[in-house]
Amino acid sequence: MASSAPDEHSQDITPMDDFFTAEERAFREIVRAEIAAMLPEHLARHTRSHLHMPREVMAEWNRILHSRGWSAHHWPKEFGGPGWTPIQRFIFESELARADAPPLSVFGIYLVGPTIFSFGSPEQKARYLPGILSGEEFWCQGYSEPDAGSDLARLRTTARRSGDKWIVNGQKAWTSEGHFADHMILLARTNMEVKPQAGLSLFVVPMDAPGITIQPVITIDGAHSVNSVFLDDVTLDASALIGEVDQGWTYAKFLLNNERTNNAQIHKSRREFDLLRARIETEKGEIPAAWRERVARIETDLAALEITVLRVLADETDGREPGAKAAILKVIGSQLQQAISELAMEVLGEEAVATGLPLANDNDGYGAYWAEKHLFRRVVTIYAGTNEIQKTIIAKTVFKG
Ligand SMILES: Cc1cc2nc3c(=O)[nH]c(=O)nc-3n(C[C@H](O)[C@H](O)[C@H](O)COP(=O)(O)OP(=O)(O)OC[C@H]3O[C@@H](n4cnc5c(N)ncnc54)[C@H](O)[C@@H]3O)c2cc1C
Repeated sequence: MASSAPDEHSQDITPMDDFFTAEERAFREIVRAEIAAMLPEHLARHTRSHLHMPREVMAEWNRILHSRGWSAHHWPKEFGGPGWTPIQRFIFESELARADAPPLSVFGIYLVGPTIFSFGSPEQKARYLPGILSGEEFWCQGYSEPDAGSDLARLRTTARRSGDKWIVNGQKAWTSEGHFADHMILLARTNMEVKPQAGLSLFVVPMDAPGITIQPVITIDGAHSVNSVFLDDVTLDASALIGEVDQGWTYAKFLLNNERTNNAQIHKSRREFDLLRARIETEKGEIPAAWRERVARIETDLAALEITVLRVLADETDGREPGAKAAILKVIGSQLQQAISELAMEVLGEEAVATGLPLANDNDGYGAYWAEKHLFRRVVTIYAGTNEIQKTIIAKTVFKG
């Protein structure tokens, strides 16, 4: 009953073309051809049928991109990035999604790398950046705790100074990829005497350190991608501290902003939606009346979001603060991901009926893959700062003054 994902590419002229110069369109042709030549078919097939990426898949693609100097396409040149403009980065990301390239692990490339090259010591840059660039070392993010999510400053994990060491005790919740990461970037309390935000520090923790226990958390789709991590008297060298002591909140906010922009997942949504629409048109000849309004709504929302991303990039190019736009991207981007998976479930009908958990770990079926995504996508309005919190940020920014 399960069929493979349609793999035809969307039309070559996109609504975004009007926004690109001739040079940018030429750049797109080059990266498109190079990605096609570099991407092994087994990785593209895996991306089309699996939601949670195993370490081996991400590492293989990371290695290939690294050999071309493209694994950290948004990093400055001095730290190993290709030195592209924001628009070139947008085009590259869109071409990766169009080719069904596997995502790279978000933690190293998007979160930890920029934190370390912005705030880390020369030794930390030399030690950790090469492993992130090459995909040889994986990271996880130890921020949230059972009683500290939206209100992160309430976190209770402590790092206590003892001679030239730090002793860490506490529990981290929802640690994605913690079961195969080499290091955690940890936010811990180092000062009880000051207001909560002012007493936090950021550390690098080796995941094989004595005193760390990792417990799997099975999500609604039956898969294992998140964990609870317990830290009992974990001893860290003084060199594990990133930046200044008690300045962790400033660094953590920086890291979360990177995460929010990335979490709009605009290119992935565009690819999914184009494939879905192509499938409907192939099977039905045209979009059936019952779905027409929803398809049109998703198409217009997607186009509006793409333009908003370009506005954020224009701000970045001109050195302007994006204001509420990063939060808007997170809210609309996550709602769109859910709208697309809801449409997919209707389009696929009985093909997407869940027949057992875990859903998509060992299958190549398009239906089970979408069923898993539909269930797991409850999370996109929760993680990286819930949508309710983002809306408060938007309101405060837009209505201030
Ligand atoms: C699958 C998954 C993976 C994750 N991966 C990671 C990870 O790798 N590392 C990590 O550190 N964290 C991770 N998280 C944690 C995630 O960041 C938190 O779940 C998120 O910040 C929300 O916190 P919470 O779950 O404690 O919910 P709460 O903060 O308790 O919120 C519960 C509800 O109350 C609402 N709410 C709370 N405060 C307000 C307010 N002031 N105004 C209006 N509404 C409010 C929220 O919007 C939400 O709907 C992950 C979570 C999930 C589900």
